[in-house]
Amino acid sequence: MTSPVFRFAPSPNGKLHLGHAYSALLNQQLADVTSGRLLLRLEDIDTARCTPDFEAGIFDDLRWLGVGWEQPVRRQSEHFADYDKSFRRLVDESLVYPAFMSRGEMRAHIVEQEAAGKSWPRDPDGVPLYPGLDKALPERKRAALMATGKPFAWRLDMAAALTRIGHPLEWTEFSADDPSALNQVEARPQDWGDVILARRETPTSYHLSVVVDDGLQAITHVVRGLDLFAATAVHRVLQELLGLPAPAYHHHRLIFGPDGRKLSKSLRDTGISALRRNGAVPNDIRRMIGLDPF
Ligand code: GLU
Repeated sequence: MTSPVFRFAPSPNGKLHLGHAYSALLNQQLADVTSGRLLLRLEDIDTARCTPDFEAGIFDDLRWLGVGWEQPVRRQSEHFADYDKSFRRLVDESLVYPAFMSRGEMRAHIVEQEAAGKSWPRDPDGVPLYPGLDKALPERKRAALMATGKPFAWRLDMAAALTRIGHPLEWTEFSADDPSALNQVEARPQDWGDVILARRETPTSYHLSVVVDDGLQAITHVVRGLDLFAATAVHRVLQELLGLPAPAYHHHRLIFGPDGRKLSKSLRDTGISALRRNGAVPNDIRRMIGLDPF
C-alpha cells in the first residue's frame, strides 16, 4: 500500500490563528501516526487579497509550531491552467452556464417570490440559492449578453450534473482517534444549488481548485474544519464529473474565540504570531486548542 497523503491548505490572505494551528497540527499528527506524508498548499486564487507577507508569516508560524511539510509547496495562483482545463471539460459537457443576475437582482427576485408566499431555499451556509433563470437562455441571447460586457459568473448546473452522475453520492469520514474507523456520509449537493465555479476576474473558484488539486496531488486524507463538512457534497460532485478519486475526509471541531464566536483572521488575540510575540511557546498553543503537549 502507498502511504497516506495529507495536506494543510491555508489561504495567505491573513495571519494564522488558533483554528489553523489546530488543523495543521492535527494533519501533522495523523500523517505521523499513519506513516503518511504532509503537503502544504497555498490557496491563493484571490490574488488581490493574498500577499507574499502573509505567505511568509504562514511558513514562519508553522515551523515554530513544529509542523513540517514536503517541498515544493503548491501555490494555486501558479496553476490556473490546470483549473481551466477541468473547467473546459464541464463547459464542453454543458454542465455550466454564465449567470448574469447581480446580487441586487437576485435579492429583488427572492423578495418578490417570498412576498408571493414561496419560501426561498438557503444553502447550508444560509445563503439563498441562485434562481438560475438564465439557465434557460437561448444560446444566441447568451452569447449576445456575454458580448455586452455584462458581468457574470460561471455556475454549475447542479440538476444537470446530478442527472449526469445518475446515482446518490456519499463520502467516507474517518475518525481522528482511529483513522481506520470509517463512516459513510450521505452527500446532499442539491442543498447547494448552482454553485459558482469560475468568475470573470478569477478563472476558477475554491470548489473547483480544491478538487482539482486534491486529485493532482493524490491526496488520500483531507483533514479540515467542520465548517467545510457540508461543502464536501459539492466536492464529491466535481470529483465524479472530472473522474477524480475521492479522498477520505475528517472534519474536525472548530476552535472558538473567548466570546464563543468563530475565529477570524483579524482577531489579534488569537493570532499565532501575536501570541508568540507575547511570550507563548508552542506547548501553550497546544494547550489552548486542546492538544497534548509535545
Ligand atoms: N483554504 C481553505 C481555508 O483556508 C481550506 C480548504 C480545505 O481545506 O479544503 O479555509
